[in-house]
Amino acid sequence: MSDFCFVKLFKSCQKVFKSFDLSFKKDVPYFKLSVARCPYCGTHHVVKYVFTSRTLVFKEIGKTRVKVQRYVCKRCGKTFQTDLTSLVDKNSNFTNELKSESEHLISDYLGSLKNVCKSFKKFFGISVSH
Ligand SMILES: [Zn+2]
Repeated sequence: MSDFCFVKLFKSCQKVFKSFDLSFKKDVPYFKLSVARCPYCGTHHVVKYVFTSRTLVFKEIGKTRVKVQRYVCKRCGKTFQTDLTSLVDKNSNFTNELKSESEHLISDYLGSLKNVCKSFKKFFGISVSH
C-alpha cells in the first residue's frame, strides 16, 4: 500500500475532502475533520481526543487500516469522531466510492447489453434489407 495510491484515490474523490482531511501518521492513513465542530451543541471549542482504528476496503488498494480522530467538546463534554459517512456507511467497511464503482460497472454492463441488442437489430435490419 503506497501513499501515492491514497492521494490519487482521494484526489479523484473531491467531494469527500469537504468534510474531512486525510494525512499520514507513520504510513497509517489518518482522518480528521477539516473543520472540527461539535455535532451536539455546534461549538467549535473542541479538542482532539483519541484515535479509533477502522478497517476500510478501498477499490484500488483493498483492505486498509485507518485511524479516525475522535474529539471531545469543551462545552458539553461529549465525544464524537470524524464523520466519514460521505466515504463509508457506519455499518460497512466498503467505501461508498467502491460501491458507486460497482454500480457503474453494473450500469455499464447493462448499457453494453443494450448496445449489443441495438447492433443486433441494426445487423438484422441490414441483413433483411439485403
Ligand atoms: Zn458540544
